[in-house]
Amino acid sequence: MTGAQRRLSLKGIEICEVAPRDGLQNESQIWSVDQRVALIDRLSEAGLRRIEAVSFVNPKRVPQMAGAEEVMLRIDRKPDVRYAGLALNRRGVERALAADMDEVRCVVVATETFNRRNNGVAIADTIAGFCDIADVVHSASKRLTFGIAAAFGCPFEGVVPAETVLDIARRLLALQPDEIWLADTIGAGVPNQVRDLTADLAKLAGPGVPVGGHFHNTRNTGYANAVAAIEGGALFLDAAVGGIGGCPFAPRATGNIASEDLCLMLRNMGIETGIDLAALIAVSDWVNDQMDRPVPAMVAKAGLFPEIAETKEDGP
Ligand code: ZN
Repeated sequence: MTGAQRRLSLKGIEICEVAPRDGLQNESQIWSVDQRVALIDRLSEAGLRRIEAVSFVNPKRVPQMAGAEEVMLRIDRKPDVRYAGLALNRRGVERALAADMDEVRCVVVATETFNRRNNGVAIADTIAGFCDIADVVHSASKRLTFGIAAAFGCPFEGVVPAETVLDIARRLLALQPDEIWLADTIGAGVPNQVRDLTADLAKLAGPGVPVGGHFHNTRNTGYANAVAAIEGGALFLDAAVGGIGGCPFAPRATGNIASEDLCLMLRNMGIETGIDLAALIAVSDWVNDQMDRPVPAMVAKAGLFPEIAETKEDGP
């Protein structure tokens, strides 16, 4: 049994599918509401039980995410799927609750420069705003998840000390979120760093607050970092079908790790995710058809292993 499996003996890894939000937000191609509704429904049909579906931010700033309310009204909403919406402030949270989101995700960035670019204010002001948000979300009996972006490196300030991230985490945990996660927004992290910081965060959070990870594959370290996060105690991982995505406010950021590539790797490590891989690959193919460029994910091209071995007829 591997270390990762041991940690998972009681609970499997949960995949939060972020293509409809983090994925599409960075694509220059703007998807229609129809396409976004179809993507979310295809994902829930493929077995994804947690989907970051929309964000409630200013559509002038992020036109890709306009019409969140309409998207949520039009999807085939499944009772066993948790639909999450991103919000950065009180106004966004109110919109999320009005749209009956199951989960509100709020993000603070680990460095002042990037937080000002992403959230428009200082870190302290973002967290002060979250106090207010926590009360509103908890009173509505919805789940509240806090993320710390650029936790492993910042495009503007460079190296981010672990203590800076843990200090932010302490302040967030005081607001009693249901979960907390670390995001490698620009794909700067490496596995030992991810394992250590995730383990420190898990210790800080305690058993009642699951810790998660969110990785971009900008420098091809995303999948190694995902495994390292599990070894550090992460219980959920964000990923985007097709590996689409990025961050419009971070220079040179590229796609999220791909859900289908991650799920195949985890399955073959003995870590179940509950996702129908063949169905997820069909979604990846469909996403590829919608895009004006090929998606970066690889398993849809290479085929599932070992299934593919049984269909090959060429010699050794
Ligand atoms: Zn991201």
